[in-house]
Amino acid sequence: MIRVLCVAVLAAVSIEAAAEPIQQTKGTFVDKFRQLEESLPTPNVYRTASGAPGHAYWQQQVDYRIKVTLDEANRRITGSQTVSYKNNSPDTLTYLWIQLDQNRFSKHSDAYETMALAKEDAQKMSFAAMREIALTEDNDFGFKLTKVVDASGNALSYAMSDTMMRIDLKTPLKPGASTSFAIDWWYNIPEGKAMGARGGYEHYEKDGNDIFFIAQWYPRLAAYTDLTGWEHKQFYGTGEFTLEFGDFDVEITAPADHVIGSTGELQNPADVLSTAQRDRLKKAATADRPVMIVTAEEALANQAEKTDETKTWHFKAKNVRDFAFASSRKFVWDAWGVKLPASGRTVMAQSLYPEEGMPLWDKYSTQAIAHTLDTYSRYSFEYPYPNAWSVNGPIGGGMEYPMITSNGPRPEQHDDGSRTYSKRVKYGLISVIIHEIGHIYFPMVVNTDERNWAWMDEGINSFLQSMAEREWEANYPSRYGEPRMAIPYMTGVDQTPIMTQSDSIIGYGPNAYTKPAVALNILRETVMGRELFDFAMKEYARRWKFKRPYPADFFRTMEDASAKDLDWFFRGWFYTTDHVDIAIDGVTHARIHSQDPDIENAVDREEDAKLKGYIGEVRERATGKPMRTERFPELLDFYNKNDDFIVTKKQRDKYQSALKDLKDWEKELLKYGRELYFIDFRNIGGLVMPLVLDVEYEDGTHEEVRIAAEIWRQNAHEVTKLLVRPKKIRSVTLDPHHEIADADTSNNAWPAKAKESRVELFKSEQSRDLMKEVADGEKPVADKK
Ligand SMILES: [Zn+2]
Repeated sequence: MIRVLCVAVLAAVSIEAAAEPIQQTKGTFVDKFRQLEESLPTPNVYRTASGAPGHAYWQQQVDYRIKVTLDEANRRITGSQTVSYKNNSPDTLTYLWIQLDQNRFSKHSDAYETMALAKEDAQKMSFAAMREIALTEDNDFGFKLTKVVDASGNALSYAMSDTMMRIDLKTPLKPGASTSFAIDWWYNIPEGKAMGARGGYEHYEKDGNDIFFIAQWYPRLAAYTDLTGWEHKQFYGTGEFTLEFGDFDVEITAPADHVIGSTGELQNPADVLSTAQRDRLKKAATADRPVMIVTAEEALANQAEKTDETKTWHFKAKNVRDFAFASSRKFVWDAWGVKLPASGRTVMAQSLYPEEGMPLWDKYSTQAIAHTLDTYSRYSFEYPYPNAWSVNGPIGGGMEYPMITSNGPRPEQHDDGSRTYSKRVKYGLISVIIHEIGHIYFPMVVNTDERNWAWMDEGINSFLQSMAEREWEANYPSRYGEPRMAIPYMTGVDQTPIMTQSDSIIGYGPNAYTKPAVALNILRETVMGRELFDFAMKEYARRWKFKRPYPADFFRTMEDASAKDLDWFFRGWFYTTDHVDIAIDGVTHARIHSQDPDIENAVDREEDAKLKGYIGEVRERATGKPMRTERFPELLDFYNKNDDFIVTKKQRDKYQSALKDLKDWEKELLKYGRELYFIDFRNIGGLVMPLVLDVEYEDGTHEEVRIAAEIWRQNAHEVTKLLVRPKKIRSVTLDPHHEIADADTSNNAWPAKAKESRVELFKSEQSRDLMKEVADGEKPVADKK
């Protein structure tokens, strides 16, 4: 057994060593500033070394025409779509890959079949987890394709691979050429929350109605890119979507009393909206507060009666990577025209929610949309679309699509009919709306590869969310962004580097959201400074809006636009699982040695005196026993009368002659009167970081000292920093503003400070007394009212 284990360990080590292109075989030096180039894709004509799209950058164009019917009674959706595919790549394609995301809910899906449970689940499982399993087992989910034909209506051959479908083209698609094909399909809509879906329906027991949020609902083209070829990793439910831009023309047929919010712009308002609704929308466009388009009273009246009739809503959307819509007769609707200061364009911020969402949604939803448009447009680019919707949809948290988002939190309904909401629900709603509307910038416009790199949308978006929350109100209870929030994850064992494919991430929330959001806040506040960071971030957004960046494009742009070598930061924070723990190991106070025996011998004498006082000597003297030299004084001589530090002529002559050999500036330095503080730092966590110090002087004044991370270049384990100051230092505190995510602050102060704690006392619980439980049960129990 042991032998097998040894072989395995050796094999693992040699594989790792082989993967390292350069090997440090002498000493223990670790180059934390090693350049990242060897880990990044080689720059080319599609993506430059500066992180910008290259002169031959290309992306595919995919346009959709879809007619879709929502069958409310059967909770089924039936669609017929024509797809136009333009091959802008320099490659000839013989087949196209299509994403059939609904297949993930099928009991035959890879996602369900490879769903690994924890050992403990065999003893204890949540109701929610078991319900999802039972619903998967007992239902027929997934796409049913009824027609796959080319432009002339001839059947196309295709093959299924779980959530992906390959359509084989009859003639190869040359660079620059287009093709089109049509698919008819239907599927059973899953219950959103119960299936952990990103859309679906939610049923309201009280009035018997549903809210539908329809997403990942039509066969979508997989992305074909210069870096990955076909991006067709299977959909396991976590790694999100990698998509192409295109134009959409969608006709949605739904019950006539439904209100629909959607990606795109409504083409036929006169057919589907009342005169009053259209008038109110017009007013809302220039109002100074959100305006009700469908009031709570109207929504309650609408949901009380049903109709067999249908209406068709016609939407068009230009240059979007996806399309989603919400539909229900329960919707209250408010809207507000938000004028964007840069161009003066008006974006309609709109919210749809059941009356059950009040009071909360009517107060905060549309305001939160407007706030996101305001802040994100300043830190990235102006919001490019005409609409921004927040819908109280059928999923627990939130989910984003171009121009439309689904957001979960809602007030609590009590037995007496009253409603309240917790602080967590209030800020949870504002935050999730900022987050999901923020996603319309990243990744709906800055079109990242979500299936592979969750941090590029979740992390960058959570960072911008933290900036928007700081602008909402002071001390906003933010969940992301403050460096301390990443510490529990970064110090834990169960983690992967940020640069991990989305479905392999351990700890999705802290890995893809919190840690990168914290990293970017640290880059902005501590490493680069706000001015350089904000410019570089904006440049990244500007370069890649309506294009597809990869991690290297972000890393390279941040350096390119700031003249900061950030490889050490991206390497440490994105490619490793190191954390931050820097300690002040010690402080040495010094001055320049004058070399003058008349000055220094006295100091030496003082230092020597400090070494006296060994306990054996002290106790011996305390006995009062006469020593031999007291009993025989003739034993005392020169050495008993003079110590080692008397100044001799020889010393003085030597000093004078040494002075003669010194240049004037060297003599000056011997009289240099400044206080010298050598501060030793030790890197315990692994990540090299800037050193931020609060230096307190003996006169009570403070100085903030900021030292760049480059101090660790030659030694990433320990460094010593010299502070030369005109006055004496009383204390030094590392990371006084909690800005570097230092995990252990107990080693951050010189002199060391006591940790403060309060000891909580508890009583041990008594064991169960079965005899008494039964006896109590026999007694009549008073009816509690
Ligand atoms: Zn997100």
